[in-house]
Amino acid sequence: MTTLRQQIIDLLSEEELNARDLSQALSIMEKEVYSHLEHIEKSLVQKGKKLLVSPCRCLCCGYTFESRKRLNKPGRCPLCKKGHISMAEFRIVSG
Ligand SMILES: [Zn+2]
Repeated sequence: MTTLRQQIIDLLSEEELNARDLSQALSIMEKEVYSHLEHIEKSLVQKGKKLLVSPCRCLCCGYTFESRKRLNKPGRCPLCKKGHISMAEFRIVSG
């Protein structure tokens, strides 16, 4: 039986997806996706793979949340203070 985390790894090895795509594909909550991703990110290191994160971006002013440590979506932009933020996209690659 394939575990949920293995399914996430398989999906992200094939294409770039955000938490909403993954939550719909696996029928789980978005916040569960983020908590699985945090564990996956650590476990991938031992397998010689890594989780690539295309950071969240403000849709109003273009500010990019590059240095953000947490994976989930920020509430609002620190520059323009608006809440139109794109979701981070995830992808798993070798090395
Ligand atoms: Zn902004």
